[in-house]
Amino acid sequence: MKIIVATHNEGKLVEIRRILEERLGADAADVQLVSAGSLGLPDPVEDGVTFQENALIKARDVAERTGCPAIADDSGLIVDVMGNAPGILSARWAGEHGNDQTNNALLLKQMADIPDAKRTARFRCAAALVVPGERKAEGGDKPFGIASETVQVGEMPGVLLRAPRGANGFGYDPLFVPDNQPQRAIDAGVKLTSAEMEPAEKNAISHRGKALRALVGAIESLVK
Ligand code: IMP
Repeated sequence: MKIIVATHNEGKLVEIRRILEERLGADAADVQLVSAGSLGLPDPVEDGVTFQENALIKARDVAERTGCPAIADDSGLIVDVMGNAPGILSARWAGEHGNDQTNNALLLKQMADIPDAKRTARFRCAAALVVPGERKAEGGDKPFGIASETVQVGEMPGVLLRAPRGANGFGYDPLFVPDNQPQRAIDAGVKLTSAEMEPAEKNAISHRGKALRALVGAIESLVK
């Protein structure tokens, strides 16, 4: 079975494949993951106001165009003292989409006067699976209907530092210390940022890992 992942980032396919293998064992081999980017599919306008809506918009668009089941995720950082901002604006908080450096600099500036005890935040991810229905039109951009939609949410709580630490990960990782720490950090009595964790350490506790693992049941019912 072919499942299209609504992303241009091939790294996301590797992460999803690992999670499928964890949970489905040998059955994971029945799933072929293909990125929407590699198929040249256009990006829809993400005009939802929640992570769930945006994940569904992206997965729906791919399923309606291709007639294949589609997975999409949408995530961001939620800062308690900032009334849940940057939220769905996380990727373009300082204006330019995907500029991690300016986004982080702006967040640090906005949080400068906030005391340690109030620097709590969490990453949230919504992961969606949309299964297409019957072909409803002969031509057009989106000839397929929708048979079913599933969306799952995962969170990674933690606190924000006052200066970046670590070179792994992306986005706000260098500023974020997850509450759940890997065993080696607990043993050493230290707290790592998600940018100081190995990818597998972060995936085990991350919002994205949790949301995708919660989605595996719906994927499994397609395969079996
Ligand atoms: P996306 O929906 O996964 O593309 O994430 C949108 C934005 O949220 C990213 O550009 C980052 O700024 C932020 N973000 C989401 N997940 C993470 C994460 O795991 N670490 C750091 N930043 C993240």
